[in-house]
Order: sequence, then structure tokens, then C-alpha cells
Amino acid sequence: MKYVFVTGGVMSGLGKGITTASIGRILKNRGFGVTAVKIDPYLNIDAGTMNPAQHGEVFVLADGSEVDLDLGNYERFLDIDLGARHNITTGKVYRTVIEKERQGDYLGDTVQIIPHITDEIKASIRGAATEPNGGDQLAEVCLVEVGGTVGDIESMPFLEAVRQMRGELPHEDTVLIHVTLVPEDTMGDMKTKPTQHSVKALREVGLYPDMIVGRSGRPLSPNTKRKIAAFCDVPQGAVISNTTVPDIYQVPAELEKEGLADAVVEHLQLPRREAGTEWYSTVAREFTSRITVGIVSKYGIEDVYLSIKEALKHAGRATSTEVTITWLDAERLEIGQLADIDGLLVPGGFGRRGMEGKIAAIRYGRENGVPFLGLCLGFQLAVVEFSRHVLGWTDACSEEMGNGRHVIAILPEQEEVEDLGGTMRLGDYPVILRSGTRVRDLYGTDQIVERHRHRYEVNPAEIPALEEAGVVFSGTCGDRMEVMELPGHPFFLATQFHPEFRSRPARPSPPFIGFVRACRERKQATQVI
Ligand code: GLN
Repeated sequence: MKYVFVTGGVMSGLGKGITTASIGRILKNRGFGVTAVKIDPYLNIDAGTMNPAQHGEVFVLADGSEVDLDLGNYERFLDIDLGARHNITTGKVYRTVIEKERQGDYLGDTVQIIPHITDEIKASIRGAATEPNGGDQLAEVCLVEVGGTVGDIESMPFLEAVRQMRGELPHEDTVLIHVTLVPEDTMGDMKTKPTQHSVKALREVGLYPDMIVGRSGRPLSPNTKRKIAAFCDVPQGAVISNTTVPDIYQVPAELEKEGLADAVVEHLQLPRREAGTEWYSTVAREFTSRITVGIVSKYGIEDVYLSIKEALKHAGRATSTEVTITWLDAERLEIGQLADIDGLLVPGGFGRRGMEGKIAAIRYGRENGVPFLGLCLGFQLAVVEFSRHVLGWTDACSEEMGNGRHVIAILPEQEEVEDLGGTMRLGDYPVILRSGTRVRDLYGTDQIVERHRHRYEVNPAEIPALEEAGVVFSGTCGDRMEVMELPGHPFFLATQFHPEFRSRPARPSPPFIGFVRACRERKQATQVI
């Protein structure tokens, strides 16, 4: 097993995750089996209890773990399925060590950060590296992205573990890539000082980078590269430019052009192989149409719905459609804003804030033939909206929203739940699709598996009345309603599951494809008029 360690300097939000995923992609293009581990130095066990407005989307894996959004990037770039072990947090490491201590496993030792915590981190990394990932081959290269910024107190034990692994393994089995920011001053000159300082911080903990990836608005000049090479003690060819590109899927091509893959292959003494080009045709974009999708959200930041953005992109590419997203504030929604969109998407969410705006948007979409895709909470609110305005149950609501007629009710097994972390209905569940329905047509099969994350469901007692009034529950899992659609509407489809988590560039998600197509058709139809 070869390890590619990726650290970050200067500040967070540099796109270290995309850089890591892209490095994996260019290795995979050369036929190497690649897997990826994200280290999150926070004390939370997982991302499940974290506010997405602070930390971005909580990504859900097939095994039901709630993880950092970077794992979504790894899955999409590498086309693999990761598991709980691929996201290591301080919380998980300390929990394991403390459990072992209580069981007496340390045989009287004083349990310390070095060696007990660092040993546990190393074991976790090795365990994750050899864990199957749904790829077609066992990984030969494991990417290890250390979250946070070098110098943070939280990441110290992880950096120490990386230092130890680098010392224990042969030189050619590990490579350390440091991702840093190269800003421009007010005169437009590129400044290398922040990079120098962050490399100095790395050296203080005994880590010497083999390569430096400089994030910048425009390509690093030869002079800047020379300076970074000299001050940071790496060969000039190991200073890689990573400029901001309009589409993240173009980053592998940028890094390839800079010679990053060749440098990594050489350092790790991997066999030299021709790079395949399939990925580049998968992500190439040629548009014949443009649509605008309105997403109703109560959050101010777009990263909360990263996987939805990507799934729309994948479906857009598959249908040659450029998808532009308009973010609509659920708490300040004005119906007039909906006049200019070609389709409406109501995503997942928690808590009652913004729910009435989402319901109003769904009503507009249903009554005006605007293509609608509802996901998780969006599915539940579509049922609420229908109950209120078609069935006339004016007090219909979700149990999550408070008092009223609970057309959406707590899942029976959730009534006992006390802890909030990791206790929802999570991960893969099979869904049976009813023949002759839109969703069955889109998937082209009777049974699918999709990822879940919820505590509430359609109240079983209300199903007969809803069906009587025209709702078609076209996907089910046992007694649980998973998909709803409204026949007669150009496109009104909502799912209790989250199809966005399984969407990949080469395998766009069927509900998203159907939605984007319907938006295109609506746009064409309205243009003719
Ligand atoms: N809050 C809803 C539930 O728990 C929806 C969850 C979601 O959208 N992910 O069922």
C-alpha cells in the first residue's frame, strides 16, 4: 500500500478535498486502485450532529454513516463506495482508546497521546486503506487528507501519526503533498510568504513536504514556483499550480497538465502507465439548452446542498443541459420569484424554520405545472401541501412542525430514540418501484437501493385518503412510502430517500435526469408561446 498524505496550509476552504479527489482521479486514470480517507480533527464522533450551515453538507454513505462532504467528492471523483472507516475523527479515535483502557487492554500502561492515540490513528488509517470500497479492484494507493490547517492544536496527533508512518515505511511508500494558498497583493504580485510560513509550521512537527500545490486565481509564474521551491526545499518541478476553474471536474486535467501525476508516480515508484482519457469525455460539457432551477433553502450557504448541485450537474451533462441554480430563501420567498424558473427543487432539511415557504413554493409548482423534485423533507412537505390544498385538511402538517393533523409522523422505531447522533433511519434501503409509474420508467428497473436520512415518514393512517385523492406512491420499502408522484402533472416527483448521494458523473441519478429533461421541455414549450 502506498500512501498519499495531503495537508493544508494558510487557511481552510482552499479546496483541499477537491485537490485530493483529483489526485486520486489522475492515479485512477492510470489504472491504479485508489481509496481515500478523510481525517477530521474535531471531537465529534461524526458529522451527523453538526449544523450544515457551519460545516457544509452532511454526506451519507451506503452503510449509513454520516460523514464530511469531502467523502462525497471522493465517491464522485473516484466512483467508489466508502464506509464509516474512511472518515476518521478525533472523537472516534479517543472513544476507541478510552474503551480499550476501560477493558484493561493497555495492561497497566499510562495511556498517552503518544503512543496510544497515535497508534490508534495509524491503525485506523491502515484499516481504512484495506477496507473494500466497491471499486473494481483492491486499492494500491490510499489518499489520506488531513482536515484543518497545519498549526491547529486539534490536528497535532494526526500530523504526528503521519510523521511516524513516514518514518516507519520505506521512503517510496509515502508522499506528502501540502496544499497552500498563494495570494496576490494589491499590485497583483503573487506572494509566497504565507506558503513559507505554513511549510515552516509543518517542519516544526517533523513533516517535510515532497510537493506543494499552490492554490491561486491564476497560474503560478515560473518565478513564484522558483521561490517556493527554494524556500520550502522541494524541487521546482514539485511545485504545482492549482488555479480556480469553473467546474471542479476540470481540476484533474489541470493537475495532469502540471505534471503532478508523473511526479507522484515517480516518487512512489509505481509502474509508469499511459493515462486513460475516459474520465475527460465523461466530464466534457457541450450544452444545447440552458435551464434555471430554483432551490428553496433556509440556509445561506450553498455547500449545504453540495451533492444536489453535483447531481444536477451530472444530469445536466447527460442531457446536454446547462443548469443554473437560483437559491430561494425559504423564509422570505415571494411567489413572483418562481415565475422565472424552469423547475423547482425542495431539498432535505430539519426543523420548522422555512417550512411554510417551501410549502408555498410546492403549491405554486403543483398548480402551475412547474417541474418539481422533492427530496426527503421536500417529499414530506409535498404530502403536507397536497393534504392542505387538495384534500382541504387545512391543519395538515408534519409532526416535526408542531400541532395539527400529522400526515407526516415519526417513524415508530424513532419514538424510543433519545440520542441524536447516528440514530436516524440511515443509509441504504431497498425500494420497490411500481410498474407503469414515472419513477419506474426513469430507473428502468423494479427494485433500487438508495440512501436515507430521516426520522419521519408518511403517516400510514393517511395513505388511503391521499391515494384516493390522486397521490401515487410509486416507490415503497415494506410499509413505508418512499416515492410520490402526481399523474397529469408534467413532472411532480418526490422521494423520501436522497438520490443525490449516489449520483456520479458517469452514472447520473435517474430522478435528476427526469427532472432536468422536464425543465428543458417546459422551457422549450414556454419559449414557443
Ligand atoms: N426532517 C425530516 C425527517 O427527519 C427530513 C429529513 C431530511 O430531509 N433529511 O424525516
